[in-house]
Formats: sequence, C-alpha cells, structure tokens
Amino acid sequence: MELDYVTVMGVFGIMRCTHQRIAPRSIQASAITRTTYRNTTTRATNPSETMRTKSSSRPARTGHSSTARRTVNPSTTSRIALILLTLICASSLICLPALAKGSLEGVKIFIDPGHGGPDPGAVGLSGLHEADVNLRVSCVLSNCLREYSGAQVMMSRTDDVDVSLGERATAANNWGADRFISVHHNASVNRDYNATETYVYYYADRTAINMQEKVHRRLVEGLGLRDGQARTAGFYVLRHTSMPAILTEASYISNPYEEARLKDMGYTWREGYYIYLGIADHFGVAP
Ligand SMILES: [Zn+2]
Repeated sequence: MELDYVTVMGVFGIMRCTHQRIAPRSIQASAITRTTYRNTTTRATNPSETMRTKSSSRPARTGHSSTARRTVNPSTTSRIALILLTLICASSLICLPALAKGSLEGVKIFIDPGHGGPDPGAVGLSGLHEADVNLRVSCVLSNCLREYSGAQVMMSRTDDVDVSLGERATAANNWGADRFISVHHNASVNRDYNATETYVYYYADRTAINMQEKVHRRLVEGLGLRDGQARTAGFYVLRHTSMPAILTEASYISNPYEEARLKDMGYTWREGYYIYLGIADHFGVAP
C-alpha cells in the first residue's frame, strides 16, 4: 500500500511540477517533448504548433483520447476524463502545502553510529556486532537525507574506528548541527525479547520530543516489532549535545531472529529509511 501511494503521489507530483512550478530547463524541455510526442499522430509538429499545444494541453489530450478510441461512447469518455482531471486537481491541492515547504536544504543533521573500533557494542548470538549494524543504518540514513531532501549531514564515524563519546558530542556542537541522531541496537539477557525504543534526554525540549515521536512512530510502523515506547534516558551523547537529540534502539540484536534480519542489507536499508521518514515528518517535509 505504501509503495502504491508513493508511486501514485509521485506521478501526480511530477505532473503538478511540470505545470505549476518553475522547473529547470531540462524538465521543461522534456515536458514539451512528451506533449509533442503524444500529439504527433493528430497534430502538426512545427514549433509554433508545439508551443500552442503545450499551453493548452488539457483540451488537446481530451480531444486526442476521444478521437483515438472511436468505439467508446463519447459521453463515457468525457466522464472518465472529467474524473481524471478532478483527481489530478485534488492531488495538486493535497500536495501543495508539503511541496511548498521544500526540502531540508540548509538543515544540518549530525548522525552518530554508536560504538566502533575496539568497542563492538552489543554482540549477537552468531557474532554480529552492533557497531557494524549501526554504521550500515546510519549510512542509509545519511544517503536518504542528502539525496532525497538535500540536508547537510555529518557523521561521527564512517568506518569501524574508535570515537569517544566526548568527541561525538563535541563534533556535533562545533559543527552547529540542527539535530543529532544516535543510532544503536539494544540487547537483553532475555533473548526472546525484541522491541523498538527511542530515547531523548530527561530534560529534552519539545523539539527533541517531537522528533522522537515522529521517528518512533515510523520505526514501529515500518519494522512491525513490539512498541518498546518512546523513553527518556541520561545517555552521554543526549546529555552533552546542545541541539535537539534522539537515540534510536530500533530492535534487539540479542534476539536471534532479529540478528538474522539485521544481517539482511534490505532490512537495515528499510530501518534507515524509516528514520529518515520520521525526520521528514518532524520537519513537515513530504518524503
Ligand atoms: Zn549501543
């Protein structure tokens, strides 16, 4: 369902962009080309005709449909065209507020993959290191933020190296990050236990709590695990960072079933993507 929705809204978004936003020249050119192609069977292709067709594309398309399908009842065709136009207009209105807010360009997000180097973090029954999973998820999150929303991203580490907690917090503070997200996976002596938890500092402000709630909801919905609740804690990186900060414990690596899933690149990609969706929700930006 989610993919269908994204696909449909993406199509409508593109259609809207080509006629309502100031698109780059390349996009405008491709839109003109598409319009020309659709009408080559019934219309002349000299440049002035092409531009005229583009500026009055809706009536032209409706006319083209009705002439091409001669066996269809004209009133039925008109009704279908009317419904399609109504849907397109409605989708434009729905998309407008989200698209108008733009992306996360100019927003600085610091991502902290927990542990690394001599500190593997929690270790699964078959030997999977939490530090490696944290880094994989963090790289996905970084790519999504950069590619999909244009945010600026800095990471506390991009390899399996030792970075102290103090260095992580200091790097985020010195960079002037707008948000801080520390990525972890939890462990329990009860190997049957598995859940999604997210944390903010005990005295977190409303902005941090809002980001926590949005990310937590996306993770719980996306991963489908037990809701371990949005919680508070006194973790060092939450306590010593000067911007709204959260720490995710999306699942328990100590659970053998979960450990097997965390070895799957597709699964960890989705986890990073769900965190990204939560951040997009937090900023009110359409993913
Ligand atoms: Zn950890």
